[in-house]
Amino acid sequence: MSTKKGSIGVTTENIFPVIKKFLYSDQEIFLRELVSNAIDATQKLKTLSSFGEYKGELGEMNVKVTVDPAAGTLTVSDHGIGMTAEDIEKYINQIAFSGAEEFLEKYKDNANAIIGHFGLGFYSAFMVAKKVEIRSLSYKDGAVAVKWECDGSPEYSMDTIEKAERGTDIILYIDDESKKFLEQSEIDSLLKKYCRFLPVPVISGFEQEWKDNKMVDTDKPKVINNTEPAWTKKPAELTDEDYRNFYHELYPGQEDPLFWIHLNVDYPFNLTGILFFPKIKNNFEVTKNRIQLYCNQVYVTDSVEGVVPEFMMLLQGVIDSPDIPLNVSRSYLQSDTAVKKISGYITKKVASRLEEIFKNDREDFEKKWDDIRIFIEYGMLTDEKFCDAAMKFVLLKDTEGKYFTLEQYRTLIESAQTDKDGNIVYLYTTDPVAQYSYIKTATDRGYDVLLMDGQLDSHFIGLLETKLEKSRFVRVDSDIIDNLIPSSDRKTVEMPSDKREMLASLFRSQLPKVDKAEFIVSFEALSPEANPVLITQSEYMRRMKEMAAMQPGMSFYSELPDSYNLIVNTEQPAIKKIIESADTSLMPKIVPLNAIIKENNDKISAIRSGAKDGKLSDEDNNQIKNLEETVTHNRHESEKEIKAFGETEPLIKQTIDLALLANGLLKGSELSEFITRSVSLL
Ligand code: ADP
Repeated sequence: MSTKKGSIGVTTENIFPVIKKFLYSDQEIFLRELVSNAIDATQKLKTLSSFGEYKGELGEMNVKVTVDPAAGTLTVSDHGIGMTAEDIEKYINQIAFSGAEEFLEKYKDNANAIIGHFGLGFYSAFMVAKKVEIRSLSYKDGAVAVKWECDGSPEYSMDTIEKAERGTDIILYIDDESKKFLEQSEIDSLLKKYCRFLPVPVISGFEQEWKDNKMVDTDKPKVINNTEPAWTKKPAELTDEDYRNFYHELYPGQEDPLFWIHLNVDYPFNLTGILFFPKIKNNFEVTKNRIQLYCNQVYVTDSVEGVVPEFMMLLQGVIDSPDIPLNVSRSYLQSDTAVKKISGYITKKVASRLEEIFKNDREDFEKKWDDIRIFIEYGMLTDEKFCDAAMKFVLLKDTEGKYFTLEQYRTLIESAQTDKDGNIVYLYTTDPVAQYSYIKTATDRGYDVLLMDGQLDSHFIGLLETKLEKSRFVRVDSDIIDNLIPSSDRKTVEMPSDKREMLASLFRSQLPKVDKAEFIVSFEALSPEANPVLITQSEYMRRMKEMAAMQPGMSFYSELPDSYNLIVNTEQPAIKKIIESADTSLMPKIVPLNAIIKENNDKISAIRSGAKDGKLSDEDNNQIKNLEETVTHNRHESEKEIKAFGETEPLIKQTIDLALLANGLLKGSELSEFITRSVSLL
């Protein structure tokens, strides 16, 4: 054949500068494309041979990647089917397409999309090469070897050559800006990234050994890949050890995975893979060791958003599917029905595998629960279907370290922890050390307390309340024990309102200033043995604040001070004494002051309601001002009296401080005063 010259059949004047410019960021994938083509050519010949359509010797069927820094070339060689001149004409020269520029503009940030769309795999070589040469000998009987050459302009040339071995060499004359692709170490790392699980041995460089105090090349060619990764085998062929080894091959230096799930579908889509539940130690590992997406053992990406449900981003492993459209944008991917099906399938599979482990080996499941809990709770919160499936195996753990399914737990607490309205009350703690005394009070009562100290638990509790019928979750310290699970026969405290107000002011007057905290004083007739004063925190406000802390845009709640209830136990002997003494010596002083306040307030109201057409005269306004001043003055007087009385009764401060201490709210100088006072009271 004489030298043939021609133009490459593209509609765009010159596709190569376009490829170079737009694909710059993803340059390195040229190697993946060339090696994939070489693998395909190899696999095709193997197939032909197995059908008897190729009768020659297969010989060594590997792919070689060779760098020659002196010549400035990078060569990818295979012993596959090769190409005749006609093949090259058909597959390489005719890359005719329409609307190229428009498409390129649209997807300029996504090299996968462009390459996939146009079948431009081979041409991606021009991202890094100033000239590309194909030297090929087809497997066909009597085939003549050919050389094709192109320097990046739309002109190419083709010639016959001498080539003894069947197969194809793709020779890239690396351009000046891409010199790094002439370094063996760079090629090694790219091959490790994209080719480590390809089905045909890929050879590049040489094995090294330690000699004369340094690493030197041996003459043994280095095989880059594991051609039979675990996910391509049948689950029955694999032992637990095999799965663990594969995990460590994927993510060196990690602890053993907790569980794994082998995925294997061929209808309605093709998908294989293995997902691992890692033992997560920190967030960094979560973002670093992600699920990897492969297409027929060729690495594609580790950004699998859209392909797997969001909550599964915490998992690790491999998904291999030729059915995931790689040549589309992310947003399209998420709306693609095939991808939706895949995502749904993975969810179902993960849920059913978890259920299976739970059923077959509950003990093991419980042992690993603390580690997988965040994953399951996150899944339940974000994925309705997963949530429904997980209701069967999600576990609750109580403060004794026992695990229960939702159903078991309900049965456990139903009789003792149902309130007067028929709601089952789930008691929980978020901090068993800080809330110790409340937990003890509850367990002494025969109640069970759940441990809910996980990162997502405040959201998770909210979810359970919507899923479980007639159920309510309350933190053990959110109220006094009798109010946590109210029964119908509760004693309430009967007290005239001015006495109640006076006592509330009395206790408030002895409260130390606690940073970012607010106290509401109330009275309860608890048992005489119970603590004199208790501090509880409202469930609702606390939860709002906790959730706000995790959600942007809700900072309003997190700015609010913590709101506590200061509950005074009117049956406790020390409190009883204080109340009696306040009633006899303080109340007589407060009553006349209250009378004056009431009288003046009544006058103010009368003036206001007597105003004509709702308008107050100047005289009215003056009068109101004077009356208000008197009210304020008497209020101050009353407060002064109350405070002065409080000062004479150190037990008030003492009982309050004890309650603050129990909640870790007594600090600094207040704490040291408490100690001094305690000593003097001894
Ligand atoms: P795609 O691989 O998506 O079809 P490419 O541009 O990468 O697009 O390759 C175009 C065609 O060229 C391939 O389909 C194949 O027929 C042929 N080809 C490329 N590389 C080789 C090779 N190393 N051996 C044999 N044929 C090849």
